[in-house]
Amino acid sequence: MQAGQDTPGGSGGRAAGAPSAELAATAAATDWEYAPAPESRDIVTIAPEYGLFLNGEFTPAADGGVLETVNPATEEPLARVAEAGPADVDRAVAAARAAYEHVWGPMPGAERAKYLYRIARLLQERSREFAVLESLDNGKPIKESRDVDIPLAAAHFFYHAGWADKLEHAGFGPSPRPVGVAGQIIPWNFPLLMAAWKLAPALAAGNTCVLKPAETTPLTALLLAEVCQQAGLPPGVVNVLTGAGETGAAVVAHPGVDKVAFTGSTEVGKQIRRTVAGTGKRLTLELGGKAANVVFDDAPVEAAVEGIVNGIFFNQGHVCCAGSRLLVQESVADAVVDRLRSRLSTLRLGDPLDKNTDIGAINSRPQLEKIRDLSDAGDAEGAERWSPPCQLPDRGYWFPPTVFTGVSQSHRIAREEIFGPVLSVLTFRTPEEAVTKANNTPYGLSAGVWTDKGSRILWLSQQLRAGVVWANTYNRFDPTSPFGGYRESGFGREGGRHGLAAYLDA
Ligand code: NDP
Repeated sequence: MQAGQDTPGGSGGRAAGAPSAELAATAAATDWEYAPAPESRDIVTIAPEYGLFLNGEFTPAADGGVLETVNPATEEPLARVAEAGPADVDRAVAAARAAYEHVWGPMPGAERAKYLYRIARLLQERSREFAVLESLDNGKPIKESRDVDIPLAAAHFFYHAGWADKLEHAGFGPSPRPVGVAGQIIPWNFPLLMAAWKLAPALAAGNTCVLKPAETTPLTALLLAEVCQQAGLPPGVVNVLTGAGETGAAVVAHPGVDKVAFTGSTEVGKQIRRTVAGTGKRLTLELGGKAANVVFDDAPVEAAVEGIVNGIFFNQGHVCCAGSRLLVQESVADAVVDRLRSRLSTLRLGDPLDKNTDIGAINSRPQLEKIRDLSDAGDAEGAERWSPPCQLPDRGYWFPPTVFTGVSQSHRIAREEIFGPVLSVLTFRTPEEAVTKANNTPYGLSAGVWTDKGSRILWLSQQLRAGVVWANTYNRFDPTSPFGGYRESGFGREGGRHGLAAYLDA
């Protein structure tokens, strides 16, 4: 059993139902626990300090501002990074403008594609380094950064490289033009992947970029900047401004920015929309969600439970499209919840660098406080909280996988985005009731449906007011597939041909 996990009765924290006497004897005789399998962090060299990536060079902030980034699993400081102020935003936008007008904008698409292919290949070559750095800075399990974040980031660059010389044939008219300088602000939940989602389509379409990573997870964006240098990307095409919310606000408000792309909270998305209103800037917003994962009585229970677990416990639930509301048909609710509890008892929480870890650290103390507050509100409003036996590490930011049953639609845990490993379970009797409850949210990003019947999948996906509906699966991402929401989940799409539209003046 890995450090940080409780093993009541030597069961490895697995047993939510009483095992038979025979099974108990076997379990007692055999230690089924995984040996620790930590990924080495030696592959990554973290510098004590990082500058801003501006016009192809790393440079300190004009006013000398710095921020510290910590490992959320240990609270150990990792590095100090420059905090960009208004003068740095000016410099970055000027560099991006010059690169747009003189180099990148006029460059033939086939030439731009070569740089994107190079970046994609370098991401693959340096994937272990990126994965370890992402897990250190973000707290996510290495198996997720290694198998999801980094390969998908590379895939986005490969996919969009393929579009760079075919834009005239993509349905945007005979000669679509880039928009200009894109200001791009990304969150901390998928730091490198969100950078790739933003940069790859913008660059393929001929725009230049000023990217603002999140304050708590700047390191892989800075390593990506190094990859841009390694790929020989012309100076000023990509600029990375580390900093906090004020830096993001300055990028959004800068008059030299032609297009703003933002992923993050609905609250900040609304502020950005107000800032951009009336300026003529193009805007796309990818905001929060409170997705319903709908399980019908004819769904294969084992598969549905895997989908529920993936839907809400992947990346500690720090996922905008997380299936945070389980809607389960009443006749099978007890069976599904029992099976879910027993599956959750097998999850391993602990060292994000251990390859066996399923649940890593919460990204920051403020996020942990938010998860705690909303979970406490669930208790206060009368829902029933359950977590598997699970001892949390002494240092770092941790929250156990948690399931609330007895949740009603008016509870805060059924309405607000918790952005943590917390599932709210609600029930329904008829398909119509499932639709009404699923759509009873101000958000509209994603949803899941689990059923044996294809016709029901088609019917339900037309009724659900969500940008993405997964059927008998969850959290599937592919660069060819547009992703995005509507209502308070934002507007615009990322990925696929639709994602290119945001970066083109047709
Ligand atoms: P934010 O929306 O505040 O952060 C997203 C990005 O925007 C970060 O780079 C942030 O900078 C930046 N930012 C903050 N304020 C401004 C501003 N006024 N103008 C421009 N950019 C700004 O999310 P938080 O990280 O604070 O998380 C708060 C909540 O948001 C979470 O609990 C979660 O519910 C939700 N969230 C949703 C996400 C989603 O994809 N749906 C992603 C992240 C969060 P910095 O963080 O560096 O200060």
